[in-house]
Amino acid sequence: MQTISKGKIVSIHYTLRGDDGVVIDSSEGGTPLDYLHGAGNIVPGLEKGLDGHAVGEKLEVKVAPADGYGVHDPRGVQRVPRQAFPEDVDLEPGMQFGAEDPQGDSTTVWIVKVEDEQVVIDMNHPLAGKTLHFAISIAAVRDATKEEVAHGHPHGPHGHHHH
Ligand code: ZN
Repeated sequence: MQTISKGKIVSIHYTLRGDDGVVIDSSEGGTPLDYLHGAGNIVPGLEKGLDGHAVGEKLEVKVAPADGYGVHDPRGVQRVPRQAFPEDVDLEPGMQFGAEDPQGDSTTVWIVKVEDEQVVIDMNHPLAGKTLHFAISIAAVRDATKEEVAHGHPHGPHGHHHH
């Protein structure tokens, strides 16, 4: 029986809930999520929680913010002029944009609120500061190919990849 350890390609079905029990995201009814275990493809707390478990198991994994999408840094919330965004885009809360941080590295910002002249953005991930409650069902576990290990992520069922 295949168990989860570093270098395995793992397929999971998951349902993610917040502290309030409301579903944030789920793979149920769709295709399972494939990831390379030990490569940081998924949040660290979930990866840790799945370690050593076997195909067919169902388990609950609770992930604290620091092991999930990080604690929420209030300095990441900023007001920027509306002109900083493309004119032809209808800005809405929840939309994400690529941006550059002060060091010139590329980062992602999320729109929190749209005002007349200004837009409130958050550089924190929308799930930062949240405790994550995952209900997991382990659908498949297999050895990664050399190519997958070298790339640090799973490839498709026929060995091809899309990048
Ligand atoms: Zn690849």
